[in-house]
Amino acid sequence: MINLYGAELSKLEQQMLTLDQKKYRATQLFKWIYEKKANSFDEMSDISLRFREVLKEKYELRKPKIYQRQNSNDGTVKLLLELDDGAKIETVLMRYNYGNVVCVSSQVGCNMGCSFCASGLLRKQRNLLPEEMIGQILIVNDLLDIEGKNEHVTHIVVMGTGEPFDNYDNVLDFVRIANNPHALAIGARHITVSTCGIPDRIRQYANEGIQINLAISLHAPTDEIRSRIMRINQAYPLSQLMDAVRYYEKTAGRRVTFEYILLKGINDSIDNANQLSDLIRGTLAYVNLIPYNDVLENGYHRSEDGTVKKFLNQLTKRGITATIRKEFGTDIDAACGQLRAKEEKIL
Ligand code: SAH
Repeated sequence: MINLYGAELSKLEQQMLTLDQKKYRATQLFKWIYEKKANSFDEMSDISLRFREVLKEKYELRKPKIYQRQNSNDGTVKLLLELDDGAKIETVLMRYNYGNVVCVSSQVGCNMGCSFCASGLLRKQRNLLPEEMIGQILIVNDLLDIEGKNEHVTHIVVMGTGEPFDNYDNVLDFVRIANNPHALAIGARHITVSTCGIPDRIRQYANEGIQINLAISLHAPTDEIRSRIMRINQAYPLSQLMDAVRYYEKTAGRRVTFEYILLKGINDSIDNANQLSDLIRGTLAYVNLIPYNDVLENGYHRSEDGTVKKFLNQLTKRGITATIRKEFGTDIDAACGQLRAKEEKIL
C-alpha cells in the first residue's frame, strides 16, 4: 500500500497516468485529503465508485500516533509520535506571535554525532518517509483543530532529530507537498531546512529553484573548534562549507541563516565573535544566536546572558546582522532529542 500523504504532486500525476486516469486526478486527491481533510476514499463524492475502489486497493491514508505529549506553560507542545514500525520521533509546536511553528524530525536518530546534541545519543535507525514528515504536520493540525481555535500550522522548521540533507530526496518531497497550494499551502518563505553543512547537498539544493529557506548549523568560527564539537567538520572543513554557501547565494539568489549555539567557554569569547565576523564577511549572512539547552552530563553549558549580549554587540559592531533566538518550552524537555532519549532510557 502507498500512503497517499507521502505523494508529491508530480509523482502522483505520473501514478494517475499509469492507472489510465488524467493527471488532474492528482490535484483532485490533494484537495480531498488536504483541503477537505477527507479521512477515507468513500468521502470523495466527485470520484466514481469504481475508481474509488481502485484507489482503496492501492493507497491508504495513515498518520502517526501520539505516544506521549508534554505541554509547556508558554503554549509549546512537544509530541513523541509512534510510526508504523514502532519507531518514535519528536515533533514540537511553538506558538510565536506571528504563527504556529512546527519543528519536524527528518530521521529516526541521527548519525552526525554533534557532541552537544541529545538527538545523536541515539544513532540513526532509518530515514523518515515524506508521509512521516507530512504526518507530523497533520497531527499538529488535528490538535489545533480539536482545541477549537480554528488555527493551523503556518510555519515549518526542519530542525528536529536527524540531518535533512542525509535524507535529501524524502525531505525535498516533503517540503514540496507542504508548499503545494492544494496541499498544506505553507509558503516557501515560511519553511526552513536546517543542515549541519554538507557542501554537495547545499549546491544541489541551490540548483532546485525553490524559495525554501536554508539554515546552516555553524556553531564555531574556526576549524579547530568546529571539528571538536561537530564531527561533520572533519569531513568538510569551513573553507568547503563557505564555498558552498557562496555558491548557494549566487545560484539561488538567497541568503542563508547561520545558527550559532553559544557554549560557555567553548565558542563564546569576543575573539570568537571577531573570528566569526571575519569568516562570514562578504556573504549576505545573518546569524541566529541560540541559547544552549543543557543536556545532562555532556559537559556543555549555556553561556551567561551577559556573554550572549556581548557576543551579539560585537557582531553588530562588526557589521554582522544577528539576533538571539527566542526560547520555548524551557519547563519541558526542550533540547532536541531529549524527550525521545528519555523514553529510550538513554538520558
Ligand atoms: N541536523 C540539522 C537539523 C537538526 S538540529 C542541523 O544540524 O541543523 C537543529 C538545530 O538545533 C541545530 O542548529 C542544532 O545544532 C541545534 N541544537 C542541537 N542540540 C541543541 C541544544 N541542546 N540546545 C540548543 N540547540 C541545539
